[in-house]
Order: sequence, then C-alpha cells, then structure tokens
Amino acid sequence: MNETKRQRLAGNWQAVVGDVRDAEQASGRPSGCVQIVGVTKYVNTELTTALVDVGCHELGENRPQVLWEKTSEHTFDAAVRWHMIGHLQRNKVRRTLKLNPLIHSVDSQRLLNTIAAESESQQRVIELLIEVNISDEAAKTGIDPAAAEALINSVTLPVRDDAPGVRIRGLMAMASHADDPDQARQQFAKVRQLRDTLQAATGRELPELSMGMSGDFRQAISEGATMVRIGSRIYEGVRE
Ligand SMILES: *Cc1c(COP(=O)(O)O)cnc(C)c1O
Repeated sequence: MNETKRQRLAGNWQAVVGDVRDAEQASGRPSGCVQIVGVTKYVNTELTTALVDVGCHELGENRPQVLWEKTSEHTFDAAVRWHMIGHLQRNKVRRTLKLNPLIHSVDSQRLLNTIAAESESQQRVIELLIEVNISDEAAKTGIDPAAAEALINSVTLPVRDDAPGVRIRGLMAMASHADDPDQARQQFAKVRQLRDTLQAATGRELPELSMGMSGDFRQAISEGATMVRIGSRIYEGVRE
C-alpha cells in the first residue's frame, strides 16, 4: 500500500473518531463512552493491519472464514479484539472462539447453546450480544424481540467472574433504513427500550448496545449506542 493511501486511511480513521466524539458530546454523553468497531470485511489482510497501525484495535468481521484467514496470514497485535458481527454457523463456533471474539450476532437458542458448551470446553469466557430484529422485516437478521428474554434466562450466572462460559453483555441491532435518519432513530430507541425491559425482567445487567453504522451512527449514539460498527467510511479513497 502506498503512502498516499496510508495517509488517507489515517485521516479517515481520525475523522470517524472525531465524528463519534462530537456525536457523544451532542448527546450529552461522556467523551469516549462509545467504542468504535472498525469493520474490516471490505478489505484484505494488508489493509486490515494498516487500520490497526493507525489506531483501531476493535475489528469487526462478518464471515468466520475471512476472520480465520486473516489471523492465520498475520499475527495481530495483542491489543486487537475481534468482533464477529455476521451470521455464525454452529459448525464454525469452535475455531472462531479460539480468537476470543466478542460475538454480536447470537440469533438463536441453538447457537447460544453451542457457544456456551464450546466456551466451557475451551475454558474461555466469551462475551456476546443478542442480535434482535427491530425492523419487523422478515428479510432482516436477528431474533424476534419477544424471544430474547428466554435466551438471557437460559444462561446460568457464573459462580466466579473468571469462570468459563458465556456472558451476555447486551443487544445488537441494525436499522432497516440507514438512509432514513428519523426511522433509524426510532428503531434504535426501540432497542434501548427493549434492553431496559429485559434488564428489569431478568435482573441481569445488559450494558452494551451495538447499533449504528457509517450512515446512521449519530442517531444510534443519541439513542444510547455503546458500540458503533463503522466500515465504508473508513475506506473512502483507500480501497480502489
Ligand atoms: C458491513 C457491516 C457494518 C458496516 O457497515 P458500513 O455501512 O459499511 O459502515 C456494520 N454492521 C454489520 C453487521 C455489517 O455487516
């Protein structure tokens, strides 16, 4: 990768960080409270490592095989944390857990059970989010919000903080119309309300809300996102 592209990447990353901090401030939230997951699904291993070099340590991939490929091609900085943001098939859980990912896309009881069993057999603590469908569209991913409570209650609380197993940390969702800011905002508000309802119903803490992408992260932050997943904005002028 040439120097011009590297500088553009650095500039884009800084601009995204600046915009996220501005959005936090505009919403009256503490600076730095929103974690930025740099989505690397569009780019190769070289560009992925270049993104780490310019300061992004939270990396999101949506396909397990690509995650495996990148991590076998390159030894990433120990500070890097991987986020699995796309559909995870149960037969891909074992290999994926070896990378200690935060899994945003748990969308069925069967997948949750597989991750729970495998995290115990690998003696790991695996953090995850329940992906909920708040768009009422059959085509979108995520579980019916009405099914989330049973999923959360199915996980027994750990006897110790470091006891192997899964930890449900919150919810993930995608807005159905990233091009319609008002509609996106209403959907993000629904996710936050669902989280509040689930906390009250289960008595469990669900601090994380993963919502917001390049086109709608400002709305997500104003509605309480703690993680935004930003891809395309980071690579403007860099990918081609
Ligand atoms: C691709 C992807 C993103 C990033 O979207 P951009 O619009 O490119 O920022 C975020 N979340 C998920 C689940 C994705 O698949």
